[in-house]
Amino acid sequence: VIEARDVKLSFGRTPALRGATLSVSAGEIVAVMGPSGSGKSTLLHCLAGILVPDSGEIHFAGNRVDTLTEAARSSLRRDRFGFVFQFGQLVPELTAAENVALPLLLSGVRRPRALRRAYAWFERLGLDGLEQRRSGELSGGQAQRVALARGLVAEPQVLFADEPTGALDSLTGEQVMDLLVSAAREQGTTVILVTHEPRIAAYADREVMVRDGRVNAPDRIAS
Ligand code: ATP
Ligand code: MG
Repeated sequence: VIEARDVKLSFGRTPALRGATLSVSAGEIVAVMGPSGSGKSTLLHCLAGILVPDSGEIHFAGNRVDTLTEAARSSLRRDRFGFVFQFGQLVPELTAAENVALPLLLSGVRRPRALRRAYAWFERLGLDGLEQRRSGELSGGQAQRVALARGLVAEPQVLFADEPTGALDSLTGEQVMDLLVSAAREQGTTVILVTHEPRIAAYADREVMVRDGRVNAPDRIAS
């Protein structure tokens, strides 16, 4: 459903991607691993149409993405993609429920309906009673579950998650991953997950390694 072909991208004189190729099938959950600075986030941003590669191609659902205008890529992100980041990045001025409803509101769903759909996620994620809290009044794990609900509420075709458990302790991280994987499977959402942690990557159907701006299958250590 989404694919990067020989993608190269430099920031000034720093090459971040040096010919990255990755193809992800619909409904697949892929963990992207690799050392710090290897290009994982950059690859995610190229696939998501946030960054445009210097060369190579990005395809989504059979269409070129990298040649689209910024406006077209921005509608694609809004209508088809969901995002979860390391530090929730909830909007502090909004309640938790409004944060979850945000992607729906931005795509034109009316407020009462958007909030109803948002509320349904609170029960599902074990967040009952937290709907009216502001992000500063949530624990890290609660905030990350709210961020996950916001990433999935619009039923995106692809969820991009950059270290979604990176700021959590390992037990809380695994709880968030359990929720992420079961909700994604239920909706048939494709997930591209960046993580440093092998225990988090183990939730994925497949792991890939980014090294020096290229994607490889992980090395298997003979035991
Ligand atoms: P981490 O695990 O630390 O998050 P990463 O694998 O996600 O690392 P990227 O963020 O993709 O790595 O960065 C790849 C390379 O591109 C690094 O050398 C980084 O310093 C550089 N880079 C990333 N973003 C920018 C930017 N906005 N401006 C300049 N250089 C950047
Ligand atoms: Mg990164």
